Amino acid sequence: VEAVDHLRRLVALDTVSSRPVVALSDYMCEHVEALGFQVERRETGEPGKHNLIATFGPPRDGGLVLSGHMDVVPVDGQPWTSDPFRLTERDGRLVGRGTADMKGFLAATLTALERVDRARLQRELVLVWTCDEELGCLGSATLVDQLLAEGRPLPRRCVIGEPTDFRPLRMHPGHVVSELVFHGAAAHSSRPDLGVNAIEAAADAIVAIRELARRLEHERKFEDLLSRPWVTVNTGTIEGGSAVNIVPDRCVVRVGFRPLPGSDPEDLHERIAHAAAATGARFDARIVRVTPAMLTDAGSETWRLVAPHADHAHEGAATFATDGGNLAKLGLEPIVFGPGSIEVAHQADEWLARADLERTVDVVADVVTRACG
Ligand SMILES: [Zn+2]
Repeated sequence: VEAVDHLRRLVALDTVSSRPVVALSDYMCEHVEALGFQVERRETGEPGKHNLIATFGPPRDGGLVLSGHMDVVPVDGQPWTSDPFRLTERDGRLVGRGTADMKGFLAATLTALERVDRARLQRELVLVWTCDEELGCLGSATLVDQLLAEGRPLPRRCVIGEPTDFRPLRMHPGHVVSELVFHGAAAHSSRPDLGVNAIEAAADAIVAIRELARRLEHERKFEDLLSRPWVTVNTGTIEGGSAVNIVPDRCVVRVGFRPLPGSDPEDLHERIAHAAAATGARFDARIVRVTPAMLTDAGSETWRLVAPHADHAHEGAATFATDGGNLAKLGLEPIVFGPGSIEVAHQADEWLARADLERTVDVVADVVTRACG
């Protein structure tokens, strides 16, 4: 099956992260089972959401993991010029939700596996397909916990086919969400002295967090890899108050920050809470979610597999987080490397060049043959 035909089917299956991935995972399973892969559906506890592991060949030294996520980001409110869930070709561009991020890689992988001489594969090839990546790599977090508990090893070499314009990326910051719930005391707004304004308390704390963010800019690491080689902090959402004539007694603020490899998310969370507490505000703070950073050594075996196909052999860093941070907990050495651009991902009229889709088929076939042949 041509990769573009696989891609047409995958794009048509709406796997926006709020929805089940079942139809898409059925499609993927059916195709790799027909090729002789053993497929495991691994439940996450969320209905309709599971991860997949498909294995071919005997476990022994070497081998390869190819990984991608099955979900996509929503299209609501975006100015699409064609149906996002119908693959449309224009001037050599395949347009549709997920073409770049990252159903193009999944489609190319299916076609590549159909084409390689599977009888010659001597080492384990493992496909790891995840759900809920776009919600903060939640699917891979659950999967990795399961595999760790079972003591189940995977091949160390691991390619994650996120859109990097065929550049090998060996590092990315993580992403952590902290929530601060500010407590005040309600009062009629004509007598504000009888209450405590939780929104105003939050405002003071937000300013203090911004000052912390500026101090963090001086704590630099990985300056050769990152354009912003520090922990970035963003106060992302604020919610509070019920009416303009009531002193609000509650305000919820969510702060996102991006720890670099080696910086402890708990420790950074504590520093944020500490900065907020210095204003005298009353609040509770908790970490909502941790998406780990990723750092693979330079010159890894995974890099050597993809380097012949890279547009820039030099290893860089991704600005976005991937499943690689979780997979690395299993001892894997992930490299993020795939077709398409992160610039068009998550946007209206997301696209992947048809030529790049076809190129990816050749790349995957070659990498699989060299890693597992
Ligand atoms: Zn992605």
